Amino acid sequence: MSPLNECTEPVRRGVEPLIFEKGGAGHRGMDLPPAGVETPPAAELLRDARLRGRAPRLPEMSEPEVVRHYTRLSRLNHAVDLGFYPLGSCTMKYNPKINDELADLPGFARLHPYQPETQVQGVLRLMWELEQALLAITGMSRVSFQPSAGAQGELVGILMIRAYHRSRGEGERDTILVPDSAHGTNLATATLAGYRVVELPSSDRGLIDLETLNAALSEKTAGLMLTNPNTLGLFEEDILEITNAVHQAGGLVYYDGANLNAIMGRARPGDMGLDVVHMNLHKTFSTPHGGGGPGAGPVAVGEILEPFLPVPLVTRRPPSPATTEPEFFLDSDRPLNIGRVKGFYGNISVLIRAYAYIRRMGAEGLRLASEDAVLNANYLLTQLHDLYEVPYDRTCMHEFVASAARQKKAGVMARDIAKRILDFGMHAPTVYFPLVVPEALMIEPTETESLSELDAFVDVMRTIDQECRESPDTVLSAPHNTPVQRPDEVKAARQPVLRWVPPPAG
Ligand SMILES: *Cc1c(COP(=O)(O)O)cnc(C)c1O
Repeated sequence: MSPLNECTEPVRRGVEPLIFEKGGAGHRGMDLPPAGVETPPAAELLRDARLRGRAPRLPEMSEPEVVRHYTRLSRLNHAVDLGFYPLGSCTMKYNPKINDELADLPGFARLHPYQPETQVQGVLRLMWELEQALLAITGMSRVSFQPSAGAQGELVGILMIRAYHRSRGEGERDTILVPDSAHGTNLATATLAGYRVVELPSSDRGLIDLETLNAALSEKTAGLMLTNPNTLGLFEEDILEITNAVHQAGGLVYYDGANLNAIMGRARPGDMGLDVVHMNLHKTFSTPHGGGGPGAGPVAVGEILEPFLPVPLVTRRPPSPATTEPEFFLDSDRPLNIGRVKGFYGNISVLIRAYAYIRRMGAEGLRLASEDAVLNANYLLTQLHDLYEVPYDRTCMHEFVASAARQKKAGVMARDIAKRILDFGMHAPTVYFPLVVPEALMIEPTETESLSELDAFVDVMRTIDQECRESPDTVLSAPHNTPVQRPDEVKAARQPVLRWVPPPAG
């Protein structure tokens, strides 16, 4: 039995009772000294109707029981801090711990959003400096930090595009173009903003086809949303012609910045003619994310969209002896703004982590990170393309999309291969996305993995390919070594169990 088996076996045999039924009557995690003051009985403080008939059945646990419970839970899932995590498009790079420590500094962690500007000059300066860094990286002219993830950044961007057209009396533009390789959030965003979505079929090179684009453009076009490199990990080689064509038609171009980590330090959306960009700070700039963890999806715009940015914006007053006003302030005096999209100013702790990461890396470090991300992806591509079909088989950017079409002939699907990878202590690639590749396995190694880790993944993929041919049942019944095997995904989505319910009293 492998060590992995040994440590997970008991958990697997009875997941729920073993994990959640802890403690017992009289177990205590704290010991409070007497209050030292007289307290009136509860009945005198609360009206009768508010009083419980009997004490709530709360778990009673000692401190070691609590610590072991949470430590054990933390070991049931895969994590970047445990092993390779090539989840394409999600950029599961290693997150340096120093970023967390900085975000935890009491001067940041204990701030209150209602403190007056004069008391929060430090964090405002940090946001202002982060904005300058992001502008340098993207080539845009102003940033809003409000959106709390990429998807919300998209919505803000498209609402700004809508406000722009309306401000010019062109509110009849009702269509957003989206390539067929786009992330699902792009279509959802455009729809939510009230637009009609027209999908552009990719060329046989996996890119936006200029002729197809030109045929789709009209006086009804509000804009185009694209990702560059796109979700196939391919750089849109005609990007300048693409943005130019959309602008000629009176539309604007949205850049989904989820793949910015492939080009940062080398190329800038602003120089490619993009009008609005979101960044997934949690992906590109290294905040622990996934499982709904905190994110930040700031949007950066070019000059024509600046007036529409959500308020408030962190703004700097040039220091002058003539004024006692603080140097940094929150500017809400922007009459064309689309409004607020989030309470307060954004997910500050994610901004602090991104700031720490960018300052630590410097311009040179960011460029090296994108180069290494591209190098690592190309290394895996060359090691794997003989085993797994790669429909667009040429030099890629930070990720590439393989297909399990060949393995499917032996009855094994991408889903099964993904499950089998878990047995080897690695996370699976993204599967079944982008939709343009059947049985897609979207692989993004990131720059933080070593050559030996990449080689270990290649070995795993080679072993699994061999199993597909020689013992497909091993793959079809995987995973064998994880605490939970194949949950019913439909049931999990339709009838989610989101809280612990005590067993009936008795
Ligand atoms: C992750 C991702 C998004 C959505 O970003 P969130 O921060 O998860 O909301 C959008 N587009 C692409 C290509 C992505 O990879």
